[in-house]
Amino acid sequence: MTEKSISALYPETVAAAHGVAQDTAFGAVSPPIYLSSTYAFEGFGTARQYDYGRSGNPTRDMLSDALSKLEGGAGAVVTSSGMSAVDLLLGQLNPDDIVIAPHDCYGGTYRLLKARAAKGHFTVKFLNLADSSELRAALGAGAALVYIETPSNPLMRVVDIAEIALAAKAAGALTAVDNTFLSPALQTPLKLGADYVIHSTTKYLNGHSDVIGGAIIATDHNRAQALRSWAAIVGSIGSPMDAWLTLRGLRTLFPRIQRQQETAGIIARWLSDQTSVKAVHYPGLPSHPGHLIAVKQQNGFGAMLSFELEGGVKAVQKFLINLQTFTFAESLGGIESLIVHPSTMTHADMSPEAKEIAGITDGLMRLSVGLEHPEELLTGLESGFR
Ligand SMILES: *Cc1c(COP(=O)(O)O)cnc(C)c1O
Repeated sequence: MTEKSISALYPETVAAAHGVAQDTAFGAVSPPIYLSSTYAFEGFGTARQYDYGRSGNPTRDMLSDALSKLEGGAGAVVTSSGMSAVDLLLGQLNPDDIVIAPHDCYGGTYRLLKARAAKGHFTVKFLNLADSSELRAALGAGAALVYIETPSNPLMRVVDIAEIALAAKAAGALTAVDNTFLSPALQTPLKLGADYVIHSTTKYLNGHSDVIGGAIIATDHNRAQALRSWAAIVGSIGSPMDAWLTLRGLRTLFPRIQRQQETAGIIARWLSDQTSVKAVHYPGLPSHPGHLIAVKQQNGFGAMLSFELEGGVKAVQKFLINLQTFTFAESLGGIESLIVHPSTMTHADMSPEAKEIAGITDGLMRLSVGLEHPEELLTGLESGFR
């Protein structure tokens, strides 16, 4: 027996076992890491499967195959960051193209869209994607791409992927979904009609806050190939070491996010009972405006939530001084619980007007719930309120 392929029926098995025990050289169970930047030609004019590390690497390909399978795509490209994955997609656009994006999208994505549009690479329109008449009007004016983030950052707004993808398709536009907040364990946008899925693998997929990475997955084989060759052209590629670490993190994706979302639900309900909390934004709460869509299109409510403190910035500063267990730091999706103040951190580059339209107030805090014991996290929050 030289090669044993695991015929995975379940995504849990793909995450845990893709590439395991397939080493033909020594039978290594843990997939080897290939750091080599270059590969010997078999002979004159005959390259092997790999020739140079920018165009392809076995370790990076093992991760992209796993991610493509998990999302149900035809192929994936693993990039050096989430932002480079977004940019790889934007690089496919032409100057006369229009991109429709959510007005409350990830801060870095907002900045990139604005910066590229300012250089005339395309036109961008920011709107509230939950407003279907606004979307229809924008689509009617012609669009090449609709960019979705659901649940959104930091307000956890949920939009209907299937409905938006259908409307986009009817208008001749492609749909891309940033699936970073849920991961394929909890949401598979390609199955809902999207054409592309984007990840910051920095977050849940790696899950251990020790890699910056990204990925883009396409439903269509030719589009996946186009992304792959564009990545080789511009050099937008993840390193083998990062790919190996991310594959290692991916092994435990399902149990991690399962446990993290259970704890997030407990925290969301607890926060709802606090008198100094004005609002809790968590799609798992029946009172959340996107709850029913989340029930329909997600396999869980995720481990991200935000809440608004009574008393604005002053109250936030006092809360943070006393808060325990949570670390005051950007990013999300790791095994440790983090808290951010979006207005001065993740969304600091937005103008006051843009923040107001998006609903990012001075009292808003965002939590990424980790794997600590729920009681410990509640006690940590409780000290913040004292
Ligand atoms: C972090 C993040 C990104 C950007 O990813 P990087 O890995 O930091 O470049 C994009 N979208 C969302 C939703 C994110 O959370």
